[in-house]
Parts: sequence; structure tokens; C-alpha cells
Amino acid sequence: MTRPLSRRLLLRRAAFAGAGAAVWPLWTADHDQAMAQAVPLGVSFDDAPFTIGVASGDPLPDSVIIWTRLAPEPLTSTMERPSGDLPDEVEVEWVVATDQRLRRVVASGTAPARAVFGHAVQVDVRGLEPGETYWYRFAYRGAVSRIGRTRTAPAGPTDRFRFAFASCQAFPSGFYGAYRGMAREDLDLVVHLGDYIYEGGGDGEGRSHTGPQIQTVAQYRNRYALYRGDPSLRAAHAAFPWVFTWDDHEVDNNYAALVPENTNAEEGNDEFALRRAAAYQVYYEQFPIRVGPDGTGFGLPTGPDFRIYRRFSAGDLLDIDITDTRQYRSDQLATATSGEAEDPSRTMLGDPQKAWLKEALGREVRWRAIANQTMMAQLEVAGLPEDVGGPLGDAMIGIDDDLAINPDQWDGYRAERRELLAFIRDEQIPNVVTITGDIHSHWVADLKVDFDDPTDPIVATEFVGTSISTSGFPDGSDMAVRALIAPTNRHFRYFEGERHGYAVVDVTPEQWRTTYRVVEDLDDPNSRVEDLAAFEVADGRPGADQISGGGGQPPRVPPRG
Ligand code: FE
Ligand code: CA
Repeated sequence: MTRPLSRRLLLRRAAFAGAGAAVWPLWTADHDQAMAQAVPLGVSFDDAPFTIGVASGDPLPDSVIIWTRLAPEPLTSTMERPSGDLPDEVEVEWVVATDQRLRRVVASGTAPARAVFGHAVQVDVRGLEPGETYWYRFAYRGAVSRIGRTRTAPAGPTDRFRFAFASCQAFPSGFYGAYRGMAREDLDLVVHLGDYIYEGGGDGEGRSHTGPQIQTVAQYRNRYALYRGDPSLRAAHAAFPWVFTWDDHEVDNNYAALVPENTNAEEGNDEFALRRAAAYQVYYEQFPIRVGPDGTGFGLPTGPDFRIYRRFSAGDLLDIDITDTRQYRSDQLATATSGEAEDPSRTMLGDPQKAWLKEALGREVRWRAIANQTMMAQLEVAGLPEDVGGPLGDAMIGIDDDLAINPDQWDGYRAERRELLAFIRDEQIPNVVTITGDIHSHWVADLKVDFDDPTDPIVATEFVGTSISTSGFPDGSDMAVRALIAPTNRHFRYFEGERHGYAVVDVTPEQWRTTYRVVEDLDDPNSRVEDLAAFEVADGRPGADQISGGGGQPPRVPPRG
């Protein structure tokens, strides 16, 4: 069942058909041609050289990283000519103020932008006050960037914190109306859980990536620039500080450590290490990520390695432990019995990150969020009816007793999941909440050491947020999916698979509230954003209660354990 195409969409598709007849912007070296061809895709840029806007991130109580990238020709970067006519190194001016007209300046200076990093600029602005709002701007030779707004982290006693989390923003799948809505929120922070870009090629309809898969530094740069060409994304970056982590598509679909998606093809592990190095370097260039050697940052990417797991803290109220479940993980199982999936040598986190996470969870703080990529809750289904495709359809493999799992999720790394959840139980660590992306749909789950035992206590709560734009389940399939998951997965309290948007989280000492916000129409760049459903977790009592919103309840809710 598909929705009838709106008139707007039909017009848009017609415009794309025209654009598709020409050479796609990523694969022409001609700047003017690329820019003209990007317009029908809903792409526009800020004035050069600050075309792809500004951003800020990794706030501390006294510091925030501010970012821009000088990209006078954003879609046609090459190794020989990464940033138009810019010299190899330029000095960029920056200013930070306590007012939006930049009159009360509290910090300013210059910072280098170098060709080797795509003329990215990251400034660690120090000496700021905790929990305060600031505005910032960059300038180069008389040209100025847009003004960004940011906020430092609170310190000490903190009685409220409000953040959004988002994931999965495939450019071909739709417009970023969700980010337009997010930019209008009142938020202290945004957490991005990965799949910020998609690496694939293809000749599809609409905002297609047309062309081969991206592999090189220049190709990754141009792909990020294309995504930032959606003005709603730039608006959301300029509105709040963000913390970023990646999933697979920032490099290659379903890669695991140094194993690429296609192990049999032209690309072996050695070649993949080079590709991962390119992708990680460009990732560093595109974001305000703290890399300083001060205990909160862990240095620049070196070859194929880049440590990005780290912690954000909001005073005594909230830690967000930001994980990386791609760089260190064991390869996905291609076929499995549950015994193989239980192999204790299989890891999602790698030993150093696991030790770091356990230590982080033991800190004295009210709430502990784990920023996670793939679903931690067990998801086992008995067979797949024809009409259930989407994120469940493609990726499942058979396991015991005619059950199927998605081996890219924590279900393929069961011993480590049990170790982590048993640690939370045995150490009596309260108020652990995982925030998760990847599966392009909404889920709320109880996390337990033994998901198959209805009497096993709930030890943590999982909120899986939908995608910003990437395709979810086919229209009209929600009832079938709920019927499919209910018998074997009693720990889910909510599922919705057709809407796209982001989540807003309100944290106080007494409760955690997650509100799922969704766009009315993914094909409308100015779509209205509405509430789908909201859930609360009470201090000291894991498991979420739905407090508003309609559809989406699973058929049965298990009794509170
Ligand atoms: Fe995704
Ligand atoms: Ca993913």
C-alpha cells in the first residue's frame, strides 16, 4: 500500500527527471554546472567561502568547539584543488559574544584553515561560563559566515537539561524538514547517532546520489557538502551545540572494524583500511569534535584509526556516554546458531571501550545515557511475512528454532550485551537509558539480562529513534510488524515504523521524558512537525510509561518486573 503522490511530489519528481538527464554534480569538476544542477534537489548554500555553514560541539562547562569549513566550491572538491582558489593555508578570524549582534565579545582570535584538512576550522574556545548561550561567527578577507548560536555545558547542581537525538539522514530519501523543526526547538544539545551521510551510489529517483560509491577523501568531502546543502540541516547546526558519533554509512554499509561490506570484491581489507582512513579524516574535518590532548579529546585521526568514544556531562544530572560500535567490532555473523551468537570473544565495543564504558557508568550522576548505534534490545522474529520489508526484511538471518535476528544489531553480540547488562544489574547502577538509531523506526524497550524470562528484572530502558529521512518500513506495514514482534519480544512497549523525525529528551532529577517528533510529509522541505508519542522513565524505576500519543502500542505490554 502506498500513499498517492501529492501534486507537490509529482512536480518535484518532474524537476528531478530534468536534472537527472544532466551530469550529476558530484561527478563534474565544473563548479557552476554542479551548483546549477543541485538547485532542483533542494540544495542551496551560504555565501562563499562559508558555503556549508557553521557548527559547534562537544561543550564543556568552560568551553565549546566552534567549526566551519571554507568551501568556496563545495560540490567539486578534488585532491589537486580541494577548496577552489584558496591558498594551502589561510588564517580565519573568529569571534564569540554573549549577544546575537556580537557586541559583547568575550573571546576572539584567528585560526588556521589548511588544504590538507579541506580548509576546516576548529577552535576550542576557552574561558566561557557554564550553562550559558553564546553566538559566534567566522570571517575571511571581509567575507563573514552566518552567526551560530551555542551553549556551554552546565556544571554542578543541574535541575533540567533538554536535548534532541537524531540519526540516519539519507539525502535521496527526502527533505530535512525534521531539522527545520528541530532548529526551532529550545535545546541545550543535539546528539547525532550516525548515518549522517550514506556512501552508496545509484541512479534512483529524486535526490539521487547518482554515481558510484564514494571511496576517496574528495568524494567523501563532496558528499558531506551535498547533505549540508539542505538548508534545514545548516539551520540546526547553527542553532545548538551537537555531539556526534558515527555508524556504518559514514564509511561503508555494515563494515566491521577493517572488514568491508564486500569482502569478496575488488576491495580487500588493506584497501579498506585506506578507505576507512579517508572516511575518518573527512569525518574529523566536517564536525566540531574535541581532539585536544586535555583528557576530553583523544587526538587527530591517524591512518585508519580515530578514537571518538567519549563522554558529555551535564553537571550532576546527566552523562551521555558516546559509543563507537563500528571501529572495534567483530565481523557480523553470516549464518548462526544462538550458540555462535553467544561466543564470548565476539565484541561490539572492543575491550578498551568496554572498560571505559563500565567505568563511565559507575560515575556519580543522576542519569546515564548511552549514545548507541544499533538496537540493544533482543529482537527475534519467527519468519517474515511478505509485506514486511524495510529494516527487518533485508537484514535478518536465521537462528535457532526458526527464529531470525539482525546480526548487525546487539543480537549478534550476545555475550557482550549480557555482560554489560549484568554489570548494570550487579553494580546496581540506576537510571541507565540507551538512545539508539540505525533502524529507521521508533521502538521503546525494557533492557534485561535475560530477555526470554518474563520475570527477569528490567535493568535499563531503551529509546530507539526513527530516521531523519532514511526509508523505514513500507507504508501500511505497522500492524503486520507489531503482530510479528509481539509473540517473541515481550520487552517492547512501543513500535512505529513509518514516520520520520527526531526525539526530544527532557531530563530532571525526578524523570526522563522522551518525546518522538515526526514530520507530516517527508517530501515537503517545510513540513509541519508534530508529536507522535511521549514516554517517561521515573528516577530509580527502569522501564518507560507512555504518557501521550496514540498508535504504536504493541499488542500486549508485559507486567512491570
Ligand atoms: Fe541508517
Ligand atoms: Ca546503520
